[in-house]
Parts: sequence; structure tokens; C-alpha cells
Amino acid sequence: KARNSHEPEFMQAVQEVAETVLPYIAQHDIYSGKNILLRMVEPERAITFRVSWVDDEGEIHVNRGYRIQMNSAIGPYKGGLRFHPSVNMSILKFLAFEQVFKNSLTTLPMGGGKGGSDFDPKGKSDAEIMRFCHSFMTELCRHIGPNTDVPAGDIGVGAREVGYLFGMYKKIRNEFTGVLTGKGLSWGGSLIRPEATGYGTVYFAQSMLETKGDSFKGKKVVISGSGNVAQYAAEKVLHLGGTVLTLSDSSGFIYDKDGIDEDKLAHVMYLKNEKRVRISEYVEKYPDAAFHPGKKPWGVACDVALPCATQNELDGEDAKALLANGCIAVAEGANMPSTPEAIHAFHEHKILFAPGKASNAGGVATSGLEMSQNSLRISWTRDEVDERLKGIMKNIHDMCVSYGEENGYVNYVKGANIGGFVKVADAMLAQGVV
Ligand code: NDP
Repeated sequence: KARNSHEPEFMQAVQEVAETVLPYIAQHDIYSGKNILLRMVEPERAITFRVSWVDDEGEIHVNRGYRIQMNSAIGPYKGGLRFHPSVNMSILKFLAFEQVFKNSLTTLPMGGGKGGSDFDPKGKSDAEIMRFCHSFMTELCRHIGPNTDVPAGDIGVGAREVGYLFGMYKKIRNEFTGVLTGKGLSWGGSLIRPEATGYGTVYFAQSMLETKGDSFKGKKVVISGSGNVAQYAAEKVLHLGGTVLTLSDSSGFIYDKDGIDEDKLAHVMYLKNEKRVRISEYVEKYPDAAFHPGKKPWGVACDVALPCATQNELDGEDAKALLANGCIAVAEGANMPSTPEAIHAFHEHKILFAPGKASNAGGVATSGLEMSQNSLRISWTRDEVDERLKGIMKNIHDMCVSYGEENGYVNYVKGANIGGFVKVADAMLAQGVV
């Protein structure tokens, strides 16, 4: 505790795991007395480095780059890169720690890692983004490799950034390998990877609803964020017959009482992925919708909530508002978007609640499928990848149920933590104290 007390997000993520995993360790002799969780909370390696780059006016900037190589017991480190001004050691360690459990849950052979920079991509030209990514990779390239550490995207790192990062890796190392996932289709990417986190979150929520004999059909759904995860979560909700009422970004949320249908969602994708502007521009084309500046969408009456923006975006008060409005299910598309108070409220009211490390694992699972396709030098069809993704999400759901059921109520947090823990702990025990 003392060693990490200055890292609040990391402490929060570890606390949540410890609460469910420590009692399990105490009940299972093979894990007790081995300090296994203590070993898991210390990164195998944490790298920070200087990233200097030149803007379009010729001014030199310096940012800090990071890669946290958390745990490689079951496979090469795997996890995204985040470019956002809030990035620091605490946030990346929390993400890397969660990633270890998440990757284990997918059943694919991937260890856990995370990285990024405090660089702010907002308002930067394409040339500036490229120069930053190239500079970032000149250092990162010596720490990663297809059998060592395979980064991917996260907040602020999408297909464009992965392209620039991959280009510089290939130039320096003179090899074409699957060292990054989320690549473009013509150069080693996988179909369905862009959609996978959002789709997977909704598949998971659908499995939860099915345990109650229910489905997305006719459900009112509120979604936060309007980036990669939020866009494809919205798309899958529409496929399954639900109505999407909200989307958001860091400036506020839009509420479209008539529902954000496929045409409107295509416009959101244009605004966010091509024009790269604020979500408030939505109401210029659809004036019947409302933009609420500086607000989060949790006060809008709904059946299902999908937080898909960032950590700690849904607090105890937000949870109370959702519950008061009759929300029956929350599935996290983002990593740790619900605060401990919010999770407590969901559990107390016994609604369906899926933690991100289970419900958003579809992204990294499909990255694992991208790695397999790269190694085999083949490409699977869209349907093949989607079927595998569905199967993986169903397995994760069922594993959470088997470890998380308590007197007829499924505590998916407990299920995900223990389900993810067992495989990594067993591998660590088998490999000895290293
Ligand atoms: P994007 O960068 O594509 O989108 C992020 C969205 O969240 C944007 O709408 C952004 O708004 C909003 N956002 C970011 N930070 C804040 C903040 N501090 N306050 C309010 N809104 C904010 O990222 P992704 O969609 O890829 O990632 C979203 C979440 O999903 C993250 O928690 C990520 O770790 C998690 N995740 C992503 C995976 C993936 O495959 N991409 C896999 C698993 C989890 P704005 O543009 O204004 O910043």
C-alpha cells in the first residue's frame, strides 16, 4: 500500500480485485502463503521515456512516453496505448493491472500491459500526429516485438495513429510482423477489430439480459462517449432492436428523444472520425435533439446504461439517478468507468452489472485473433471473426456466472476477478518465483 499510495486509480483497481480475490485465496490452499497478489501488483517492468517532436510552426515539444509491462505469465504483454493529457503512471498501472485479468478471461495466450503518453492529440494537424507517433516509436520499438509485447489503440490512438506507429517500427526493425494490433485491413489488420470492443460489450449485456429471459429489443439505452467503443456499441444496440438515446464527449452529451438511428450514427462517425469535431455539432443537423454542455447522460431515463468514455465517469450519485429511473443493466465499455460507490449501489439493488474487464474484453480478444491471423499469414472473413468474438464473449459471461453466483444473484465483478486470476496465478506458480 505504502509503495503505491500516491497512485489513486491504481489503488482503486487493486482494491476492487483484492476484495474478491483475497477471500478466494484464503479458501484455496494452493494459493495461500505464496504472496501471489503481491507479485501481481508489481509491474514486471515500467518504462518511461522522452518523446520530443516539432510542431507545424517549428516549435519543439517534449512529452513523456510510457510502457507498463505488467505480467507475462500466460503470453506476451498485450494492451493499448493511450494518448491523453491525463496519462500518468497511476492511470497506466490501473489499466495494465486490469488488462492482465481481462486478457486471461479471453482464454487467449496474452499477458497484460499498457502504455501511452500525456500528449494531447486534440487540435493537432495530421502531420503533427505523424511526427509525434514516429518519435514515440523510435524509443518504444526497442521494448516491443510480436513475441514480447504487442501494443494496440486506446483513447486517442485509433487506426491513423497505429498506422504511423507501425510504419516507424517497420522502418527501424526492417521486419513486417504483427507487432501492433488494430492495423488497417490491407496491411495485416483483422475484420471486426474496429467494432469488437463495442460489439463485445453489447453481446455481454445481451447474455446478462438473457439470464432474465430478456433482450435488447425495445430497450432504451444511454451511452457515454462517442469514440471507437461508443460508436460500435451504439451500432450493435440498433442491430438488436434497442433505441440509443445519448452519446457524449468531454464537452457534454446529446440527447435525441427520437433515438439515434443508423443514419444519425453514420453522421456521428463522420463528425468524430473524419471531421474530428465536438459532439455538440450533432444538433446542427438534428435540431430536435438537445446538447447538454458539461453534463453526463446518466440522468436520462433508460433500461440499459453503457458507459463507454473513461474511468470514474459514473459516480454514486449518477448510479442513484439510473436506479431511480428504472435502469436494469449496466455494462462497462470503458475501463473502470464506475466508481466503487456506483458499483456498490448496483450490487445493493441487485441489477445486472458487468465490469469492463469482462464486458469490454472483446477488443483485446479480437486483437488476439489478429495476432493469430498474422502468424498464420491468412485473413478470416467478417463472419468468422464475429462468430469467434460472440463465442468468446459468451464464454467470459459464463465464466463470470460460474465464479460469481451468490444466492441466486450473479456478482460479475467477483466472477471476472476470480475467473481472470486463476489462470494467471496457476501459471505464475508453475514458473516459480521469478
Ligand atoms: P476514443 O479516443 O475513440 O474515444 C474516447 C471517448 O471518451 C471520446 O468521446 C472522448 O471525448 C471521451 N472521453 C475521453 N476522456 C474523457 C474524459 N476525461 N471525460 C469525458 N469524456 C472523455 O477511445 P475508445 O473509444 O477507444 O476508448 C473508450 C474507453 O474504452 C476507454 O476507457 C478505453 O480504455 C476503453 N477500451 C477501449 C478499447 C478499444 O478497443 N478501443 C478496448 C477496451 C477498453 P473527447 O473526444 O472529448 O476526449
